[in-house]
Amino acid sequence: MDESISAGWEGGVLVRKKRRYLKMLVFSGKELYKRKEVLNLLKAFKERKISRIEPKISLEGALSYVDAEKIMDARGEVVRNILEELAEDGFLIRELLETRIACPQCGSLNVSLRLRCSACGSTSIKRGESIQHNKCGYIDFKTVFTVTDGLMICPKCNESIKKERGDYVEKGVLYKCLVCGEFSQNPIKEFICSRCEKNYREEDYNPFEVYGYSVNEERKEIIEIETLDLGSVVKNLRSAFWEVKTSVFLSGKSGLEHPFTMVAYRPGTDRASEETRIIVDIFFEDKSINEIPVISFFSKILDVEVKHAILLAVPSANDKAKELAKSYGISVFECGKMDEVADTLWNAIRPIVEEEASKTFMEIAGILETSQVIKNLIKEETEGSGQQLDSKPVEI
Ligand SMILES: [Zn+2]
Ligand SMILES: [Zn+2]
Ligand SMILES: [Zn+2]
Repeated sequence: MDESISAGWEGGVLVRKKRRYLKMLVFSGKELYKRKEVLNLLKAFKERKISRIEPKISLEGALSYVDAEKIMDARGEVVRNILEELAEDGFLIRELLETRIACPQCGSLNVSLRLRCSACGSTSIKRGESIQHNKCGYIDFKTVFTVTDGLMICPKCNESIKKERGDYVEKGVLYKCLVCGEFSQNPIKEFICSRCEKNYREEDYNPFEVYGYSVNEERKEIIEIETLDLGSVVKNLRSAFWEVKTSVFLSGKSGLEHPFTMVAYRPGTDRASEETRIIVDIFFEDKSINEIPVISFFSKILDVEVKHAILLAVPSANDKAKELAKSYGISVFECGKMDEVADTLWNAIRPIVEEEASKTFMEIAGILETSQVIKNLIKEETEGSGQQLDSKPVEI
């Protein structure tokens, strides 16, 4: 009990110490989760159509979350912004996958490298396996020394050279400038943007961080909460002329505000709304819920006016929870699956609605009956006075 009472509400979810959650169903009410694109994404997570959101870089050099775009039925920046908002809200965890080179002029990620001679700046550069003739010091590509298979001649001093004699040393891969002849291991690297053709040096590029997203395990319940549709229950209640609010905060006598999954009442006088008020909390756990949600619910309903307190447990409530709820006057209903919550809830509420309707009928019938009695009285009185008039003529 202390654990839940000392905890705070955060985005509709009661956060307990040790970072555990009491999973109560209160929609966050945030505009973000009402967006069609976000609901599409949440449903895809729920149905396991997607587990991670990975980016792809197009040929045009733009980053996009292709799978998420298809699911969300939106493109580009809209999707990227939503993913960022979901990460900010703590629902998604963003993970740095890599840092890419982005064009400092247009931002494109489609880039190619160009080599430039470090001595004269020419881009006329060739790459090849190079050797150096020991005797004269001449360096060139191995192919330049090779005349025919097995026979090698130095183009500078015209001497025949042989590997077995150790006439030359392998210099590995070198770059040769065809303009000034400079051999270099590290020519200047220059980036060229494939979109806007700007060229820029290594030190001038914009580092572009590429992120992937995954669901924060600790906020996973947002999927269940925000995708749950209580619309049918709301509709049924409204057609029976009840007022209903979902994910509502009620001010208690203590001055504290308490969140509830749903509150319904018959409109009319305050007296009527208090006397008919139904308060519902839906709690869900992986296994059955224990007594903690019952205590939490009880502490809230003690503070507000309520006639019917309903606790819906997904998938079930353990015996201790049920026993405790009974002693608190809370009706517990169990629902095996999240998908069946709306039906179970309506089955729980319907008898109350029907009872109230029949009460109203009786009341109206009562009023009609009373009015009939009054009518009869008036009639009798009128008739009586008529008789009186007849029997007692006015005497002057
Ligand atoms: Zn560019
Ligand atoms: Zn030579
Ligand atoms: Zn050069």
